Amino acid sequence: MFESLQDKLSGAFKTLKGKGRITDVNIAATVKEIRRALIDADVNYKVAKEVTDRVKQEALDRKVKVAVEPGQLFTKIVQDELTHLMGGTAKNVNITGSPAVILIAGLQGSGKTTFSGKFASYLKKQGKQVMLTAADVYRPAAITQLQVLGEQIGVDVYAEPDNKNAVDIARNAVAEAKSKGKNIVIIDTAGRLAVDEIMMQEVEDIKKAINPTEILFVVDSMTGQDAVNTAKAFNDRLNFDGVVLTKLDGDARGGAALSVKAVVDKPIKFMSTGEKMEDLDIFHPDRMANRILGMGDVISLVERAQQAYDEEDAKRLNKKMRENKFDLNDFLSQLEQIKKMGNVKDLMGMIPGMGKAVKDLDIDNDSFKPIEAVIKSMTPKERENPDIINGTRRKRIANGSGTSIQQVNNLLKQFDQMRKMMKKMNKLQGAGRLGKMFG
Ligand code: GDP
Repeated sequence: MFESLQDKLSGAFKTLKGKGRITDVNIAATVKEIRRALIDADVNYKVAKEVTDRVKQEALDRKVKVAVEPGQLFTKIVQDELTHLMGGTAKNVNITGSPAVILIAGLQGSGKTTFSGKFASYLKKQGKQVMLTAADVYRPAAITQLQVLGEQIGVDVYAEPDNKNAVDIARNAVAEAKSKGKNIVIIDTAGRLAVDEIMMQEVEDIKKAINPTEILFVVDSMTGQDAVNTAKAFNDRLNFDGVVLTKLDGDARGGAALSVKAVVDKPIKFMSTGEKMEDLDIFHPDRMANRILGMGDVISLVERAQQAYDEEDAKRLNKKMRENKFDLNDFLSQLEQIKKMGNVKDLMGMIPGMGKAVKDLDIDNDSFKPIEAVIKSMTPKERENPDIINGTRRKRIANGSGTSIQQVNNLLKQFDQMRKMMKKMNKLQGAGRLGKMFG
């Protein structure tokens, strides 16, 4: 995420490396580099200037008072400024009401429908009764897309395929949600490729008709400044409550994330980092600032792990590890857990210092596929006791999984090493401490 900006900012701080003291001269040079980095990341010019002016003032104010290394001082000042720029603290979506009505707006392709599904799934996990509504009357495929998502996450979808009046559909949906006792109804509206009067009028009419609890505007972060301008145009008409940033897993430069709050004065509430239903996070400005500064985001990583974590399963695995009975079935279920946490590359990027290291790595959740295929081609007995897998069996497994004998050999070898390591740890540390590590 935002690798190029990360690189340039760390380059700016590097000019201070080895400098014992902060001076007017190195402050000016560093601030100039920071401004260039922000503008290159497609941050609104005025915003970039305001931020760097504040950074400069802070650095000048603090230079005599604080006896820290200049690089550290600057990092701290920039971290505070970026956090402030992106809204300071995380802001909640208002879901009170019976039902709470959430209206989703944005351009076509920005990720509205995907977000609607993710948000519904997120709320459902919190025990809420949710209903999704397809209010896009122009693209028949939009209704199907929402229905498929609804099916996948187990959430009801309200649609009227023959009705061409989006305002009516939205109104009927709210009535239906009320009669069914739903807590929340999410209304996915139509988008156009660019800001256009008919679309604006339609969303405005829907707003008037149903008086939503919350309007969320979805922004494709890959489109940088354009996204911010669109958000401004929509906000002038709709006065929305919050922004959802999508496609942060792509090579967005960061401009949208960094400018939208300052230009539109509405908080970013969610961020989306992939196409899967799990790839949604509450937007925390401070954590994002840390990521931009290459410090990773361990808190989000732990939260993802907790969401994917199945307590019973963890206890069971813990016991098997202690008893040296961890087998390939368990290995497979561990892979499933990791996949539930979301996009692997994104997860690795949350580890401090890893963002840059994984940038060019060709790794995604599909990288697990051959491993899974190999294990799934084994018989239950083989999975429980891989020692019985001889030459003939290896050949059969390779054929069955569409891999090579070498891939099967590699997996078995790695698994064997893993088991040996577990045994050693059990012996060395005693089961209690290992238990704590995994449980
Ligand atoms: P809509 O027209 O605004 O409803 O947009 P969609 O929800 O149909 O999304 C457009 C495309 O972007 C689809 O192919 C989605 O799978 C994809 N998409 C949505 N959100 C994300 C995201 O956070 N990351 C990535 N990589 N793709 C996304």
